[in-house]
Amino acid sequence: MLNLVLFGPPGAGKGTQSQKLIDKYGLIHLSTGDLLRGEISQGTELGLEAKKLMDQGLLVPDAVVIGMIENKLDANKDAKGFIFDGFPRTVAQAEALDNLLESKASAISGMIALEVDDDELERRLLLRGKDSGRPDDADPAIIRKRIKEYNDKTTPVAGYYKNQDKFTSINGIGSIDEIFSAIVAVTEKY
Ligand code: AMP
Repeated sequence: MLNLVLFGPPGAGKGTQSQKLIDKYGLIHLSTGDLLRGEISQGTELGLEAKKLMDQGLLVPDAVVIGMIENKLDANKDAKGFIFDGFPRTVAQAEALDNLLESKASAISGMIALEVDDDELERRLLLRGKDSGRPDDADPAIIRKRIKEYNDKTTPVAGYYKNQDKFTSINGIGSIDEIFSAIVAVTEKY
């Protein structure tokens, strides 16, 4: 099984590159952000609770996203593999993911991190906000909060995979195709 974690701050290009990886490798895309927005649009209790945090640029509780990922893994037992996009965002989520995969006799193949500086992220997210309709893309203060949450809580997740010798970093600035080629070059080694 090919199980990739695509890592990087909000606006790094994880969603765009995930789509290209799905097309190439036939993997299942698991984006906790997309799953949460799905709950919000369905008006579920979980979605309503999550929205309060998401609109402030804060992370939702670990148990919520871990539960959603567990459901999706169970619902896709015959998958060739998964792309985890925007998950894990804390070390506790990374540990839970390892345990979930181990219980299915599987494991993470590797983490690929897209490196983009903060100024470029802010520029990209404000631009995306014009079309995405996402409230958390529209306000520079919320964008900066999301980047701060990433720097405070999510960057340690890279260390978690470095310790397992599963971490590769890639320059996330360049054309979509250039970045995709760099990702594929790493993926082919798994
Ligand atoms: P994203 O679409 O990945 O940028 O996520 C949008 C928002 O959803 C984040 O700012 C968080 O509020 C929430 N979220 C998505 N994934 C996670 C996660 N793995 N852990 C906690 N919160 C998450």
